[in-house]
Amino acid sequence: MSDQYCCQSGETLVFTCAGAAYSGQVANHAGLSLMTGGKANLFCIAALAAEIPDKLDRARKASKRIAIDGCEDHCCSKIMQSLGVPLDQHVVVTDMGIEKQPEKMQMVVHAKRVVENIKENLLRST
Ligand code: SF4
Repeated sequence: MSDQYCCQSGETLVFTCAGAAYSGQVANHAGLSLMTGGKANLFCIAALAAEIPDKLDRARKASKRIAIDGCEDHCCSKIMQSLGVPLDQHVVVTDMGIEKQPEKMQMVVHAKRVVENIKENLLRST
């Protein structure tokens, strides 16, 4: 990971709702893309929901936490909020004009839009 996205006090983590809806899968694809691109570490939202102690600890100690939700139900960010895990950036796929269940699925294009949005916000906040 480059220094731009990780500082001495911790790491940048990305959580996704990984929902069954197309937009939930776009969220997860975007999180995976951020990880493979070295921008953040993809982290298990299910492990937080299960309140696994070491996972909660790591999430709380991170320098930045990004949540990508597939739709207005905001499942990912609600899990984090309910556990008192701070949230530094929140992106909602459907707020970007990407439908929850579109007729035409363009996973790579849509995930790329989400990733670019997050990268722009990361640069503004550094
Ligand atoms: S935020 Fe929307 S897409 Fe994601 S898990 Fe919840 S209902 Fe499904």
